[in-house]
Amino acid sequence: MNSPSAPPLSGFDPQAPPAPDLINTCIHCGFCLSTCPSYRVIGKETDSPRGRIYLMDAINQGEADLNPTAVQHFDSCLGCLACVSTCPSGVQYDKLIRATRPQVERNHPRNWWEKLVRGLVFNLFPYPARLRPLLLVLWLYQLVGLQTLMRKTGILDQLFPRLAAMDAILPQLSWRHIFAPELPDVIPAQGDRRYRVGMILGCVQRLFFEPVNAATARVLTANGCEVVIPKTQGCCGALPAHQGREAQSQALARQMIDSFAELELDYIIINAAGCGHTLKEYEHILRDDPDYCEKAKAFVGKVRDVQEFLAEVGLTTPLSPLADEPLLLVYQDACHLLHGQRISVQPRQLLRQIPGVQLREPIDGALCCGSAGVYNLLQPAVADELGQQKVENLVQTGAAAIASPNPGCALQIRKHLQHKGYDLPLFHPMELLDRAIRGERL
Ligand code: SF4
Ligand code: SF4
Repeated sequence: MNSPSAPPLSGFDPQAPPAPDLINTCIHCGFCLSTCPSYRVIGKETDSPRGRIYLMDAINQGEADLNPTAVQHFDSCLGCLACVSTCPSGVQYDKLIRATRPQVERNHPRNWWEKLVRGLVFNLFPYPARLRPLLLVLWLYQLVGLQTLMRKTGILDQLFPRLAAMDAILPQLSWRHIFAPELPDVIPAQGDRRYRVGMILGCVQRLFFEPVNAATARVLTANGCEVVIPKTQGCCGALPAHQGREAQSQALARQMIDSFAELELDYIIINAAGCGHTLKEYEHILRDDPDYCEKAKAFVGKVRDVQEFLAEVGLTTPLSPLADEPLLLVYQDACHLLHGQRISVQPRQLLRQIPGVQLREPIDGALCCGSAGVYNLLQPAVADELGQQKVENLVQTGAAAIASPNPGCALQIRKHLQHKGYDLPLFHPMELLDRAIRGERL
């Protein structure tokens, strides 16, 4: 026990723990609880924003330890930032959880199984050159029927639930995922060049959603952009950043900045919501790096989500209908666009410009689908519950197709559509615009 005269010992280490002045802006009103997906599923105060803020405060004050129970409550947070949008008191929970995660990463020893799963996720996913050969193995795993066997018998679920979670989000692979041709380094604008833009390919996006990147490049060039795609670019660092792996996210951020330096670009475009949010945080990620903090600032100034960019500069190419009848679409708000970047109007504006498109809004549209980076791999039970709710709400709109702006959300929603037996196609908004430009029907 600390002596009454001595200041209490904090359970956090001295490296930038959650700031007390940010913690103290919480007035404990509880407005955020109903919009918090982890609270919605788990139902405990300790798994709500308010509960976690209490916990951070108690650990800061030395009244609680950063023990496995506390870590469990921090781990259960999806980092969706819905609480930031809801809070009437302006609590910057994003900064609080962003300070807490590295504390957990540094000071909480994970058990061997968690280490193995996290090691796999963080040493593979952010590195397309490592992940691509693995896709060949996974393709064979599907091809010879092993995946079907695993799913039918439920062996993986019973023995290794987290591996089963990885298996469950694996899309149907084809040769195209492994041998897809790379996009050229520079793609000229069609017609007069209005802008010269860089394009970020993403790590998961470039392997599992190569058609989305190809469609994005076509939409940009059709609207007067020369598109530059440096091949030295890697992962943006979102996956490790969301889990507090600071050194890894910093290294990836530096590599990304270096890849786009010297290219004389007007903008740097990203089509994945989660990546866009992290790219815009590079100034914070590299704040203590004297060689990169200024470069990070300049880089961030040019980053735009592709929908944000197109809505801002305007479409200049004509769009054709995607169906003979009016097409009912439901746009799924990705948390890192909606709450993280405050982008919700622009995607809808763009989709409404396609002749015949009518948008439907789902119940609980601002609630996370459970994907949340690698959350659905690390916390599969909560993620599954959220995924099921999201799919039901999307289907209930009566829409004929879903538009989703984030690869993680797309994998999660497709998985649950399939589980529920719904045959509802899902597209990235760029794929829909691309088809409308090319006059292709759905
Ligand atoms: S985080 Fe905001 S909404 Fe939630 S309890 Fe605190 S003040 Fe209220
Ligand atoms: S970030 Fe999302 S999951 Fe985490 S406390 Fe806020 S609302 Fe809840």
